[in-house]
Amino acid sequence: MAKPILLSVDDDPDVLRAIERDLRSHYGADYRVIASDSPEGALDLLKALKVRNDGVALLLADQRMPRLDGVEFLQEARQIFPDAKRALLTAYADTNAAISAINQANLDYFFMKPWDPPAEHLYPQLDDLLEDWRASYRPAFEGIRVLGTRWSPRSYELRDFLARNHVPYQWIDVEGSANDPETKLLLEALGPESSGIPIVLFPDGTKLFESVPADVAQKVGLRTRAQTSFYDLAIVGGGPAGLAAAVYGASEGLHTVMVEREAPGGQAGMSSRIENYLGFPSGLSGGDLARRGVVQAQRFGVEILSPQEAVGVRTEGSYRIIKLKDDSEISCHALMISTGVQWRRLDAPGIDRLQGAGVYYGGGATEALSCKGEIIYVVGGANSAGQAAMNFSKYAERVVILVRGDSLASTMSQYLIDQVKSTPNIQLWTHASVAEVHGETHLEEISILCSDTNKLERVAASAMFIFIGALPRTDWLKDLVERDDRGFILTGPDLMHGGERPKGWPLDRDPFLLETNIPGIFAVGDVRHGSVKRVASGVGEGSVAVQFIHQYLSKV
Ligand SMILES: Cc1cc2nc3c(=O)[nH]c(=O)nc-3n(C[C@H](O)[C@H](O)[C@H](O)COP(=O)(O)OP(=O)(O)OC[C@H]3O[C@@H](n4cnc5c(N)ncnc54)[C@H](O)[C@@H]3O)c2cc1C
Repeated sequence: MAKPILLSVDDDPDVLRAIERDLRSHYGADYRVIASDSPEGALDLLKALKVRNDGVALLLADQRMPRLDGVEFLQEARQIFPDAKRALLTAYADTNAAISAINQANLDYFFMKPWDPPAEHLYPQLDDLLEDWRASYRPAFEGIRVLGTRWSPRSYELRDFLARNHVPYQWIDVEGSANDPETKLLLEALGPESSGIPIVLFPDGTKLFESVPADVAQKVGLRTRAQTSFYDLAIVGGGPAGLAAAVYGASEGLHTVMVEREAPGGQAGMSSRIENYLGFPSGLSGGDLARRGVVQAQRFGVEILSPQEAVGVRTEGSYRIIKLKDDSEISCHALMISTGVQWRRLDAPGIDRLQGAGVYYGGGATEALSCKGEIIYVVGGANSAGQAAMNFSKYAERVVILVRGDSLASTMSQYLIDQVKSTPNIQLWTHASVAEVHGETHLEEISILCSDTNKLERVAASAMFIFIGALPRTDWLKDLVERDDRGFILTGPDLMHGGERPKGWPLDRDPFLLETNIPGIFAVGDVRHGSVKRVASGVGEGSVAVQFIHQYLSKV
């Protein structure tokens, strides 16, 4: 925990040195002692300390200073740190001024110069003041702080990124907490810069304005560049399938790198509670599963590049070369594609404009808390929608699930249907599809088309979460890797046509079970044609594929 600060201000260098020395010798173990030779410089310093979220316990200023005297300084400093104890250093001749300042500037104490011996004329009084200060002092949050507004898509993107990458942060909604005195003080200390939201404040005092995930990733030490240019195994996609391959590959001695575009965990990372994964009888959150997977992979020495995106792939002899978004390249002997699937877009007027401002694809775990007491809509009838509805029902006043069909029976697992049915604040609205969403700066209303009555109903809503199925995004593989007409990757037996191996296949064996039409390039998990879209099957495929990779590598 950072030590609270004692700040002394005096334009006389000898006095400043003396008071600094005395403060440090007596309080140095518990406080950070800082000295400033001008009140103006001290005010700038206080603003910087406010932005860093440091605690200031004491302001001790000399009365006689040019331009701004001690009382004036303490009055101004009070606007920045209202709870700091304020004391004046005065010459005997200024005693009257000091006494009247006690009322005028709400001074806590004044000390006469010289204060020798300090054990008699300085420390006992300061001990009292500091004890008093400590009694009501609450240590400030010491991590990263993000300032933004609830309805700003960029703020949402950043918070979602931090949450999914398990980077702890404190969220400050500058609109929602506009009347909070601490928020006001912080915004004042930031001055005109405060308009550059989302702002990220780091404990070391660094500030990022209009920040985007990539900048923050660098600053918090998430690695986006590979340490070497060659690996035995490169994995693209860090969902359950990719993480499992990483753990098995690295634990069996393969020099392994994993490239992940957003955050390790993939779709599973967005799940509020996975209840069907073996070994967790009361379920576990996707975030927890992802965090455990990452720690396990790192323990075995897997290099994780995130956020980083694969944008192209080519082969050169036995090398498979991946092009990354920042134009760098990684080459490897075996490439595993585990890029899963991404949400299908909902096509209705207003959706794109309000995305991130009340309209969200996927779980929006970051948003759950903000939905307290509100009416929110979940679009879709699959398990992912059911889980999200259950999660939001803990916070929202009412959660309405919109489905086009007449029930959840054919799309959701029975255990979730039962949970949804027995949760009083979840309402199921069947035969319903979103026709349009409305709102100026954020979602306010949804127009819902009811197919059974053919009526359009317009309802108030503060958030809408869309879970309407997903498709793979595999365009970056171009024509190199064979895919079906929806973009899912073909592997193993699916590549064989009439007993014939795929066109251009160079080896005298059939493709392995999870191998694509290019030897040494494998595909696992949801991105694979015909895969079972479940966490356990992704994990299973990722682990099994490593056995084929060993067989492949033994002949490269
Ligand atoms: C909300 C929700 C709840 C779910 N709940 C359950 C459940 O309870 N039980 C269950 O069994 N299943 C559940 N599922 C399904 C399960 O999560 C998926 O089947 C599983 O995550 C698939 O794993 P995967 O590794 O194949 O792909 P994904 O999880 O989709 O991971 C793919 C990863 O690849 C990354 N990526 C994509 N393209 C690139 C690129 N070009 N470069 C770098 N990285 C890239 C993505 O960012 C993503 O992180 C749920 C899914 C969702 C969305």
